Amino acid sequence: MDNFRKPENVTADETLDPPDWADIEALSHRIVEDAVGYLKDVRDRPVWREMPAEARAFFGAPLPRSPAPIADVYGEVSRNVMAYPMGNIHPRFWAWYMGSSNFTGALGDFLAAIQGSNLGGGNHAAGLMDGQVVNWCKEMVGFPASASGTLVSGGSMANIIGLTVARNAKAGVDVRERGVGAMPKPLRFYASDQVHSCHRKAMEALGLGNRALRRVPTDAALRIDIGALKAAIVEDREAGFKPACIIGTAGTVNTGAIDDLQTLGALAVVEDMWFHVDGCIGALIAIAPMNASLVAGIEQAHSIALDPHKWLHAPFEAGCALVRDASAHRNAFAVTPEYLESTPRGLASGQWLHDYGLQTSRGFRALKIWMALKEHGVEKFGRLIDQNIAQATYLTRLIEAEPALEVTAPTTINIVCFRHRLDGASEESLKEFNTEIMLRLQEEGIAALSDTTVQGRHCLRVAITNHRTRRDDLHLLVRETLRIGNEIAVSARQD
Ligand SMILES: *Cc1c(COP(=O)(O)O)cnc(C)c1O
Repeated sequence: MDNFRKPENVTADETLDPPDWADIEALSHRIVEDAVGYLKDVRDRPVWREMPAEARAFFGAPLPRSPAPIADVYGEVSRNVMAYPMGNIHPRFWAWYMGSSNFTGALGDFLAAIQGSNLGGGNHAAGLMDGQVVNWCKEMVGFPASASGTLVSGGSMANIIGLTVARNAKAGVDVRERGVGAMPKPLRFYASDQVHSCHRKAMEALGLGNRALRRVPTDAALRIDIGALKAAIVEDREAGFKPACIIGTAGTVNTGAIDDLQTLGALAVVEDMWFHVDGCIGALIAIAPMNASLVAGIEQAHSIALDPHKWLHAPFEAGCALVRDASAHRNAFAVTPEYLESTPRGLASGQWLHDYGLQTSRGFRALKIWMALKEHGVEKFGRLIDQNIAQATYLTRLIEAEPALEVTAPTTINIVCFRHRLDGASEESLKEFNTEIMLRLQEEGIAALSDTTVQGRHCLRVAITNHRTRRDDLHLLVRETLRIGNEIAVSARQD
């Protein structure tokens, strides 16, 4: 390509290493100082703010062709990127469902990049640490040491791994070789109507199709209705389908509801089905001393998806898939091309970690999780989970004490659904009113909530997966929600 032709007068071989190591060291010190300040003062900044047009325009700049001093590059990042975060490291970020990161984890990511290992496999320390963190995850949820697992990008990928193994184990043919078209009977998977949307993507990607995932109605507590599930299994079997997999959710994304995992596990045994638990939210409640009993039965699962970038607060990305039957796991993914054959000694004598998932090259995700677990100990992470659940209960009481507010779904764990009342208003105007409150809370930088619809009612949703939240923050949320609600109502009356 002409545009990229070799510059004139280049005599020495080029490298990406800094021309002056002392310079980069000095700049790196500054970056670390800025980073410490950034986290230390996060409470004093708005949770989120809209980006001005100049800052947006920055991202339209063309491909850089010539060099720029790294200090200038950092300056641009600082002004245009660091200044406009999503906000999930802030103590009053409670939208959707995500962790709030941690400084040690950030150091882990930095060191992982410096060491630079590829976790596709091989004989090196990072590979051993990857396996160790998977082992720790097994231990946290009560899986046996003989189980298998892999660190992946997040919960969505962890669920895909689990459901792939389930499909292959129950297909009735060598589905890897012959494809889903050769299956003697079409498979059916079952989950509650609260199941996370990633399962739909998984069913589609697995070639089973969205309709093969039956959404079973939920009870008043938004847990899968066991009677309805049993009836659906009978109905499908009679209709010529093969009921293959029950997906239990330990902590639904809407309300935090936890399916009856013990009953689902027992039913899967009776029906000869795979039992997968989507524990992206709740699997780690197993380490929380006050609440562990909420996820009793999770250890009976054939596979579990969990998400260290949620309640372990690992910097993105980190998910983990666990599979009880290690050979079923490996059989679902292992492929050994000639360029990845093991040798008896040397670099290629380690485990090929890419045999347990879809990626070939893999990042060193384990280090950020490992360092934070070593620093704090797993018991502290358990207490922080209990703390968030207690905060959600506390917020629920604060809301119940305000006549202008109402709780709209049972609070089971760390998710609170509520709305501002509006006398005599239709569902539609309630939705508009509450959405406006949510947007003003975001735009004024006060708090980040999200919204959803539960049992036909629109509501605001507070998911406290945050080690920085304090009870004061919850008082402030209630106060500001009432203030904004009142302002909107007053200005509506004046119109
Ligand atoms: C977050 C979540 C997922 C998806 O996980 P990602 O890490 O966002 O990919 C799946 N299921 C549930 C219940 C979740 O809360």
